[in-house]
Amino acid sequence: MLLISCPNCGPRDETEFHYGGQAHIAYPENPNDLSDREWAEYLFYRENTKGTFAERWVHSTGCRQWFNMLRDTVSYDIHSIYAMGQPRPDTQSGLAPGAPTASAPTSSEGV
Ligand SMILES: [Zn+2]
Repeated sequence: MLLISCPNCGPRDETEFHYGGQAHIAYPENPNDLSDREWAEYLFYRENTKGTFAERWVHSTGCRQWFNMLRDTVSYDIHSIYAMGQPRPDTQSGLAPGAPTASAPTSSEGV
């Protein structure tokens, strides 16, 4: 069971959240110009990363706000939680500025 730190509500049980898929998928600038294949790729094709993955979550039984999370798909370690619209944080330098801490603190990384 994951303990997820909602940016608005603080640490809450995983059951209060819903997964929203891969983060940072931009809506096409001119969707009418896309071929059927390009549109299908936008809608359905997602990375299947083994390791650190940027994904969207919503606190559905709490504040109902969406946010992004960097999570390891193997170990389930949460590396970072950050607001929608913010760029993906650099995983080497730790958490995003101003982001709440993840549920499982990691050992100090290289300086
Ligand atoms: Zn919340």
